[in-house]
Amino acid sequence: MRALRFDNRFVRELPGDPEEGRHVRQVHGACYSRVEPTPVRAPQLLAWSPEVAGLLGLGDADVRDPRFAQVFGGNALLPGMEPYAACYGGHQFGNWAGQLGDGRAITLGETINDRGQRWELQLKGAGPTPYSRRADGRAVLRSSLREFLCSEAMHHLGVPSTRALSLVATGEQVIRDMFYDGRARPEPGAVVCRVAPSFIRFGNFEIFASRGDEPLLERLIDFTIDRDFPELAGERDPVARRLRWFEEVCRRTAVLMAHWMRVGFVHGVMNTDNMSILGLTIDYGPYGWIDNFDPEWTPNTTDAGGRRYRFGHQPRIAHWNLWQLANALYPVIREVEPLERALVSYADIHEAEYRRMMQAKLGFAAWQAGEQGDDGLLDTLHRLLERGEVDMTIFFRRLADVDIEAPSLAPFEAAFYDGSRRAAIETELLQWLQAYGARVRTEDVPADVRRAGMNRVNPIYVPRNYLAQQAIDAAEAGDLSELETLFEVLRQPYVEQPGCERFAARRPDWARHKAGCSMLSCSS
Ligand code: AMP
Ligand code: MG
Repeated sequence: MRALRFDNRFVRELPGDPEEGRHVRQVHGACYSRVEPTPVRAPQLLAWSPEVAGLLGLGDADVRDPRFAQVFGGNALLPGMEPYAACYGGHQFGNWAGQLGDGRAITLGETINDRGQRWELQLKGAGPTPYSRRADGRAVLRSSLREFLCSEAMHHLGVPSTRALSLVATGEQVIRDMFYDGRARPEPGAVVCRVAPSFIRFGNFEIFASRGDEPLLERLIDFTIDRDFPELAGERDPVARRLRWFEEVCRRTAVLMAHWMRVGFVHGVMNTDNMSILGLTIDYGPYGWIDNFDPEWTPNTTDAGGRRYRFGHQPRIAHWNLWQLANALYPVIREVEPLERALVSYADIHEAEYRRMMQAKLGFAAWQAGEQGDDGLLDTLHRLLERGEVDMTIFFRRLADVDIEAPSLAPFEAAFYDGSRRAAIETELLQWLQAYGARVRTEDVPADVRRAGMNRVNPIYVPRNYLAQQAIDAAEAGDLSELETLFEVLRQPYVEQPGCERFAARRPDWARHKAGCSMLSCSS
């Protein structure tokens, strides 16, 4: 396997935990604890991303080298790797939860590719760390496969996300109680190698603020700006620079939320420890994809009561999370107003981005704001899609096929889940399509140009929960072909691929209430 070049700034420039060993503890005055992955019995490479390997300068031969599975399963280190687990805290489901930290993730190092890009390599499921609390530091195949698959699918959909290099089976079993009902059972274990410029979360800053450790808070902020936001280097005044940085975090988060709403992604656990400071989708757990359009839906059974993290609530939750981050930053900024202004800008930027993306989805050349305009049109559509149980992905994809001179429901045959729910909205949906056709005709855009534009933003394939579950069932039975095919299709989510119709189909009836398809627990 080819050598990688490492430049481990996080451990070099920030203070680490002086205590050694994996025993669980509160870590004060440090950003991380050095800890090595715990070796596994029989690491076996199940899948890998050629795009991510390429980013790191690795080719086919490197991935096929037996040492690859050893390294990315956690059994060996490459020269230059300096593994550690990061210390962070977080607000979980609205409450401050204290120290959390990388309980099963271990960063191997920061590699620099030949274009000078920095990529942090992080194993998830690599064994216990000082932050494992009462858990085992491991991950099961089903959740690891879901993270691997979705990270890359998100990237190809154009949604900012951490990436995934590899999925390695450990050859060991992990005990999980999937439904928290006392029926724990052994499941196959796996390790994903995640890749991102940085895995720093809101919670990395919150932990030091909560402990009143302002010097370390300040160091971590300035480090983050220096390493990950080089565009802010021109601002000489440190407080002004920190403010510009917070504004940028707000902006990126606003854009990310608009993307999630555009593609129908529900994160499921938007705790502040699961919010990336780079505005990336991070920590794929009980996430889900919208099948029938439903702003109230959450895939996470742990959140079924309050539905705090339901689809339609995500932009507001991100705002709440940014408030917590602003609170944490206040001690080293000491100015309330500009922080508040940045939080207000979040809402403005989110709305503008959301409209821009919806404009593209609907195929409009410009957005006509207002209840009598496109905002009203979109609002009506969303209510119809919800009432009629219409598939979000299929509806938007097929909207490009509507004959705007004589609209009909014909393009949407495959989008309905329930005959009576369909019957209840048919007349109104047809009226809506007529209004939509009239609206499209107000703009002088050639039909093929409009269609092509819409097809670039309305995916035909998304990693629907039931598709991922089918790949998991097959993989657990030793058959990787389902994962391979699905992964391949999702590399071009906007391009119709012959023979792949089944990956574009709405959720089948059997999957409506099946575990893994419509509901997922945090057990992973
Ligand atoms: P999550 O909400 O899944 O992102 O995880 C919340 C916290 O629990 C983080 O600090 C994780 O590192 C930790 N955690 C989750 N699963 C495990 C596990 N199996 N072993 C150790 N720590 C875990
Ligand atoms: Mg997490």
